[in-house]
Amino acid sequence: MTAPKDALTPWRPMSKADMCQVWAAATLVDYRKLPTPEQLEMWLHIATRARWTLPEALAAVQVHYTHSTEFLKPGHITAIIRHHRQKPQARAALPPANPATIRKINALYRASAERFGWTYEEVHGPLRFCCPTCRSRPRRPCTEGSRHRSTRGKRIPVETFCESRLDLARAEGWTP
Ligand SMILES: [Zn+2]
Repeated sequence: MTAPKDALTPWRPMSKADMCQVWAAATLVDYRKLPTPEQLEMWLHIATRARWTLPEALAAVQVHYTHSTEFLKPGHITAIIRHHRQKPQARAALPPANPATIRKINALYRASAERFGWTYEEVHGPLRFCCPTCRSRPRRPCTEGSRHRSTRGKRIPVETFCESRLDLARAEGWTP
């Protein structure tokens, strides 16, 4: 919902055409009849009194019918607009971004696997470790940068393991 941008944007009363848009938006949900000129006039008086703007009023119609089965009246719109104007900090108050990192996704997979009683095949040797050199994750093959022109820069899985990853496995007593 867009409140008037700032104090420098002068508020101006809605026009009859604006109000027809609001009415039309409501009609899409509640099939109300076309407004009489007197009704339009009354709604415009109310809108001016409560300083509606067209974008706010249109959004308010949606907000109202998102949550309510009550037949929309001007007071609903005024209340919703007022409510939204009173919390301009709503965006700032959102919790900090919580991106889906590989770590979180893996944790979710693990939790599901446990719930379903799935067990991993045991892996031995270098695959048990994250590769210190190419950074491949456990159970994933080592990779190297492609030398082909078409795929240059991409990481390509390789058959062999990086030496540092082999060292980790050897340190555990693993032998190829
Ligand atoms: Zn590697």
